[in-house]
Amino acid sequence: MTLFARHAALSHLGRQRPGNEDAFLAQPPLYAVADGMGGAKAGEVASGMAVAALEEMLAQAPADDETAAAQLAAAAAEANARIYAAASKDSARSGMGTTLTALLLRGDHALLAHVGDSRAYLLRGDELTQITHDHSLVAEMVREGRLAPDEARLHPYRSVLSRALGTEPDVQVDQFRVDLQAGDVLLLCSDGLSGPVSLDKLRKGLAAGDPEKAARRLVDEALRHGGPDNITAVVLQLSLDDAGSGADAAETLILPANGSSLGAPADPDDDPPDDRPAAGDPPRRRHWLWMRRGREGRAAAPEESG
Ligand code: CA
Repeated sequence: MTLFARHAALSHLGRQRPGNEDAFLAQPPLYAVADGMGGAKAGEVASGMAVAALEEMLAQAPADDETAAAQLAAAAAEANARIYAAASKDSARSGMGTTLTALLLRGDHALLAHVGDSRAYLLRGDELTQITHDHSLVAEMVREGRLAPDEARLHPYRSVLSRALGTEPDVQVDQFRVDLQAGDVLLLCSDGLSGPVSLDKLRKGLAAGDPEKAARRLVDEALRHGGPDNITAVVLQLSLDDAGSGADAAETLILPANGSSLGAPADPDDDPPDDRPAAGDPPRRRHWLWMRRGREGRAAAPEESG
């Protein structure tokens, strides 16, 4: 079975940070969110390097899962090595690092590689499941029974990571496979989204029925809670056919709020979608630095033909 994915990706500065240190990749069949850390713009360098290392994977077309998983692991290791080397060379970037949650679609399943506290969620029917484990101090404490899950959300050390890309010479990467069904919705997000937005609101937002609507709702919800951090959402909706919902179905929306390595600046032919903030709303509009519309992605199914 081959599933088709429509996706939307959105990254917002939030309301309290001077710059956006999140980066994402939404190039079918590969999707990722990276949340950088480190002062003086080092965070966005680190997240950009992670996404760039992954992007290089797109040139390869692994025939089997084993090779694909090995390539994902190699991309994460390569990103780790590059960030660590760059941080060692430049004192202004010392200690920089990034999370990375990457997902590779493979026909009827996905392979994931994950380090840090960005998250992947799966919505199936009414049920929302977090499919990644946070590599954070408080998450370790919860797993060890030393902290209640409710306390973790507001804990002062909630953003302290126990694992990240680029902070050590080597990194352990979580890798796993998720089987998918038509109707499934996947979310990759940074903690600027999963922190302020409750699970119930995440579930309702993802159930919007359209990836672009879902991504907007989720980002808006995080902003309603003050937007304390950069907010990034990559939403994928899986279906059995790629033609079903008319011409609009072939369009996805990508709106990074930072100029990462993800592509060219705005194409002047790209009109803002109708429900963008109007011109009379400069404070919010300013955050959308560029936008691009891309074609729908087909989930890769290298072993199938015709
Ligand atoms: Ca963050």
